[in-house]
Amino acid sequence: MVEMLKGIAASDGVAVAKAYLLVEPDLSFTKVNVEDIDAEFARLDDALAQSKAELEQIRAKAASTLGEEEAAVFDAHLMVLSDPEMIGQIKDAIKSNKVNAEAALKEVTDMFISIFEGMEDNKYMQERAADIKDVTKRVLAHLLNVVLPSPAMINEEVVVVAHDLTPSDTAQLDRQFVKAFITDIGGRTSHSAIMARSLEIPAIVGTNSVTSKVNAGDLIAVNGITGEAIVHPTEEQQAAFIKAGEDYAAQKAEWEKLKNEKTVTADGQHFELAANIGTPKDLAGVHNNGAEAVGLYRTEFLYMDSPDFPSEEDQFEAYKAVLEGMDGKPVVVRTMDIGGDKELPYLDLPHEMNPFLGYRALRISLSELGDAMFRTQLRALLRASVYGTLRIMFPMVATLKEFRAAKKMFEEEKAKLVAEGVAVSDAIQVGIMIEIPAAAVLADKFAKEVDFFSIGTNDLIQYSMAADRMSERVSYLYQPYNPSILRLIKNVIDAAHAEGKWAGMCGEMAGDQTAVPLLVGMGLDEFSMSATSVLKTRSLMKRLDTAKMKELADRALNDCDTMEDVVELINEYVK
Ligand code: PEP
Ligand code: MG
Repeated sequence: MVEMLKGIAASDGVAVAKAYLLVEPDLSFTKVNVEDIDAEFARLDDALAQSKAELEQIRAKAASTLGEEEAAVFDAHLMVLSDPEMIGQIKDAIKSNKVNAEAALKEVTDMFISIFEGMEDNKYMQERAADIKDVTKRVLAHLLNVVLPSPAMINEEVVVVAHDLTPSDTAQLDRQFVKAFITDIGGRTSHSAIMARSLEIPAIVGTNSVTSKVNAGDLIAVNGITGEAIVHPTEEQQAAFIKAGEDYAAQKAEWEKLKNEKTVTADGQHFELAANIGTPKDLAGVHNNGAEAVGLYRTEFLYMDSPDFPSEEDQFEAYKAVLEGMDGKPVVVRTMDIGGDKELPYLDLPHEMNPFLGYRALRISLSELGDAMFRTQLRALLRASVYGTLRIMFPMVATLKEFRAAKKMFEEEKAKLVAEGVAVSDAIQVGIMIEIPAAAVLADKFAKEVDFFSIGTNDLIQYSMAADRMSERVSYLYQPYNPSILRLIKNVIDAAHAEGKWAGMCGEMAGDQTAVPLLVGMGLDEFSMSATSVLKTRSLMKRLDTAKMKELADRALNDCDTMEDVVELINEYVK
């Protein structure tokens, strides 16, 4: 039966393909008594062998797409699978308790897991517990003949359907096969949505119900531009979606022509269009889309993609690669913004009720736990600074005291390196993200001490409206064009300019086609966005007149009561 779904349009593009369900399967079983012990041994051996073959395949795929380091986690899983001690104990349990392999496997692995998890100070053993849990799930799935989904195993064209995708799930999606994804939860600025845009995978998030309405293999049509999807589309509907995809491709081809042009408005004003990146690999997208700078390098992916804290050397190499790759054009590197929806398996963070309001980002960097991590990162950045135009930016700054503390650590590490005879640039700008309303309100004070601001609207909006950026239920409150948000932004831009500093924006709003005319009118200096939004924004800016946009912005700031009023006004000014 044809079923229509509506969610939040998260990444442009259209696709029609079979659904691949990336959801936790049901692995429940009943414990039964068995007579034929040998048959049970054979079932277990079979499941172990199949799990091993599967893991080897996943490992090889991970090594080729993500690199050897990422693949190493599967070596640990393979080791668990061939651990004679554990397998011996499972077989003993089958034999002496006369139970099925499922029950014996669970009993023995649960015991190992609870012993290892109990070793609270031993990170290595804690990780082994996690490995055993993972492997047990795989073997159990084979015993029960249930297919365990894995992004790495996808080898045909599909639409991935999931309750939620973590940033690390998203990183594993292979663009060649994953034509789109669609989830139950999430918002436009959740990190999986941001990554979908940089991977150019069409996506819809926050449908509430896609996992309950779609079965594996169902044909599904996805339009990431409108947020509409159809399960079991008719031939006519399929044709309409395919046509929409072709129209989008044609539109993209038009934008492509602007790749090597400067970004200038109709009246000849230049604005800097920069791109946001997560890894040095994203530089290809930056160049392909003609971005003029990197306005946000989210370094936390360097930490998330690594099995342990990345060394100073590893970080140095990554920062150097980006700086060199940009060939002297500015690169704004944000220091680690761990926490919120970005977790590190090897960093034991306390469980909090509100992780987005909790111990995260600069708050970790300035605490005892983060001190060494932060200094290592600063050293790597300072060493890399001679390879290009580096700008360093601190995330989640709430108070001037925090900024001063971070800047002091930067100066200390710089002095140490200079004393060691290491070359560092003298022209590194040090700025902050404005993503906490307190900092936006006090921007005039901050502007005296920082070199620049970059407005992080993804968080600024969620904190100002008290509306979780991950929640589809309150997404109606996620209002970039609300006059309250516009006034905060204007305050930040004016405060920077009063001190002769520049103000940029690296939240998703910077590439939002409805918001761009307003931001031009408010005098924002730099716009940093998903690389894939750069060309359409350049195309839009070519049509704008700054004097007219200034009038638009003034009216939006002073005369409008609601977001809807603002949108209406924009439509009046920008045809
Ligand atoms: C922001 O908050 O706007 C931002 C750019 O940072 P992130 O999306 O990584 O939180
Ligand atoms: Mg943020």
